[in-house]
Formats: sequence, C-alpha cells, structure tokens
Amino acid sequence: MNPLFNMGIDDAVYAKGEEALGRLEERFRQIDRIAEQNQMKVLKAMQDNHVSEACLYGTTGYGYSDIGRETLERVYADVFHTEDALVRPQITCGTHALALALMSNLRPGDELLSPVGKPYDTLEEVIGIRPSRGSLAEYGITYRQVNLLPDGSFDYEGIRKAVHEKTRVVTIQRSKGYQTRPTLSVARIGELISFIKNIKPDVICMVDNCYGEFVEDREPSDVGADMVVGSLIKNPGGGLAPIGGYIAGTKECVENAAYRLTSPGLGKEVGASLTALPSMYQGFFLAPTVTAGALKGAIFAANLYEPLGFPCVPDRNESRHDIIQAITLGSAEGLQAFCRGIQFAAPVDGFVTPEPWDMPGYDAKVIMAAGAFVSGSSIELSADGPLKPPYHVYFQGGLTWFHAKYGILRSLQEMKNDGLVKSLSQTD
Ligand SMILES: *Cc1c(COP(=O)(O)O)cnc(C)c1O
Repeated sequence: MNPLFNMGIDDAVYAKGEEALGRLEERFRQIDRIAEQNQMKVLKAMQDNHVSEACLYGTTGYGYSDIGRETLERVYADVFHTEDALVRPQITCGTHALALALMSNLRPGDELLSPVGKPYDTLEEVIGIRPSRGSLAEYGITYRQVNLLPDGSFDYEGIRKAVHEKTRVVTIQRSKGYQTRPTLSVARIGELISFIKNIKPDVICMVDNCYGEFVEDREPSDVGADMVVGSLIKNPGGGLAPIGGYIAGTKECVENAAYRLTSPGLGKEVGASLTALPSMYQGFFLAPTVTAGALKGAIFAANLYEPLGFPCVPDRNESRHDIIQAITLGSAEGLQAFCRGIQFAAPVDGFVTPEPWDMPGYDAKVIMAAGAFVSGSSIELSADGPLKPPYHVYFQGGLTWFHAKYGILRSLQEMKNDGLVKSLSQTD
C-alpha cells in the first residue's frame, strides 16, 4: 500500500508519480538553489531596512507616517533593485496595478507599445483594444502592437518601425498568461529592453511581472526595466497577503503612480495599512519558498502527464520562467475530471464538485477548481480551462510542494477512475 492510499491515490497512480519524480532530482536541486538565493535577497532587504516590531502595527485614517508601509516599500525596492516601490493593500489586484502604472505614466498624445503581442485579457479594456469606459484610448493615448514571430522570437524589424516620437511606454508581459507563446526569460526581456532603449533611450519599459517573481534569481528590473508590476495574491504575497499589488521602479515612475493612486500632492504620504502589514511582510518572506513549491508542482505535472500522452506547455524538459502549466486533456470529460481532482485536494472547499459555468467575457463555458485560504489566490493550488477543444487546463500554484504533488496525483486519479487515461487501465 502506498503512503497516499488513505488519501485516495491508488498504487498505479502513485507509481507513475514516483517514476516522474525519479527524473526530477537535479531540476529540483536547481530550483532549491534559486529559492535559497531569493530567500537571502529578501532576508537581507528586511534586515538592511531595520524591519522592526513597530513595522507590523499598521495605521488607520490618513495613514500619515506609516513606518510599516514605508519600510515594506523600501524592502520591495531593495529586492527588485529599484529606486522606489509602491506596495499597497489599496491596489486591488494585478490588473489594477498595471492600469495604475500605465495611466499614471502616459499622457494624452502618447503612445503605448506592446512588442510581445497581445497583452493579458483584462488589459484589453484598460488600453481600449476592447472599448471601455475610462480606457487609455478615451484619454487620447494610442496603442501599437508588434506580434512575436511564428517561432516565438522578437520581430526586431517590426519593433524598430513601431517605435517613434510619441512612443512613451513599452509594456512587456513576462508570463505567457493564457496564451501558448513561450514565457519570456529575464535574459530575453533584457535583450528586448536594450534593443528598444537603443532606438529611444527615454522610453519607459514596464514589465508585467505576474507569475514570474522569484522563479529566477534575477528580476526584469535587474536588466533595465523601469517598472515591474504585479499582484500580491500571486507569487510575492507568498499565499499570506490577503490583497494588494506592487509597482517597483524608478523614483519618477513610482511617484507618478502614487499621485494617481491617491491624489496629486499626496502621493505616497497617505494610505493607511490597516491590518494588512503582518501578512504582507510574512508573505514576502515566504514567497521564494512558496514559488519554488509551485514551480516544482508545474514541472512534476508536465513530467507526469506528458508521458501519458497529454501534450504540455511548457513541455517536461523546458526551462521555466513562470509557474503556469498548460496541459491538453483532449476532452471535456478529461478537463472536468482534472479539475475535480484539484478541487478534492483542496484544504478549503475540498468537498465540493466544480461545475462548468458561463463566465462573463468568455465564449465557452469555463470550469475552475480552487479551494483557497485567500479568495481567488492563484499562488494557491488552482486550475481552470474553457470547455472547448482542445481542452487545455491551466494549472498553477500550491502553497507547499507536497500539496501541489498531491493535487496533481489526485487529478490523475480522477481521470483514471473515469477511464480517461489509456495507458492506466481501470483494473490495475
Ligand atoms: C494575473 C495576471 C494579470 C492580472 O492580474 P489580476 O490580479 O487577475 O487582475 C495580468 N497579467 C498577467 C500575466 C497575469 O498572470
């Protein structure tokens, strides 16, 4: 009997997991090495900035002289090696942080350029690609996009032509999000930024850093990005931050964002931290380890599913630059069984069965599995996918490696029980 038998994993599924793990020792060692470096980076920033007990108390009202908030922002700035940072519970999510960074650093008549193709879905309304109230387009800010070449490389010629006098901000999305293009490594982002700054040195390069933080030992701000932007209910919140977003970058970019978030003249000086600081600090402290666990989960999933005949993006051997794993399950039943397994593995709401629903803004029903301590948190184990061919599931997170591993095995168990895995017969 295998050690997970009492947790509903049969011997055949467990054995497949062990087989996959046998191939991963060296890769997991590499991940641990990066996690250790990032852990020391965060620890040093906390020590250098004299994080003290008083930093954890929080403020109410205007929040003037909030030592905890100000120190946390210096800690973020040190970790990302930027001049300044804005890290606030008043930034409601990743989209809000990105919208804030863009709207505060662009002025009417300016142009925004994406040299890496279509940005994340929710940014389409921010930019005005899909018309929306209050979009950049409504304020007279134009948008230009240069797609990646079919092989995933940068269209340098196209980019050179697209940069002109009005180009003010360049937005670069690190993670592939829910597309199939490869995620950009920090090194590739650095090459792209140098190329663009060579053409126009005063352009502001912003990186959408969502899902990428702490996956490598460097961040895009180490290779020339003027701003890196992300959500605290993903990697840098470490699973503990209950809300929030961050913008780390040059003093001027961050000040522009602060003036927009609160008010011209007030900027960073206001914004009570209420009770959020302890979990924002502790979450950031844990984030390198939590991210490493999620990354191991993603690599394990690819190494378990790909040999069973399910295509994976990234594939099982590819280098990783974010924590998202896409698996092509090939049938609606497969997608539902996979998500059921993830849900049944959850510490919260593990007793419920996820059902597909008509989510606003999608052209097919969507199924989602998540049982998180922080609602909607995608650094916690979660999976989702649209019910349409080829039935991709997007899988990410896991606060601990052991939980991620169990969730993935449980998903395979559900698929096997439904007879959806050809090479695992139902009777063995
Ligand atoms: C999650 C994500 C966003 C948006 O973040 P929300 O918190 O969902 O608003 C933007 N870009 C990328 C690449 C993301 O992964």
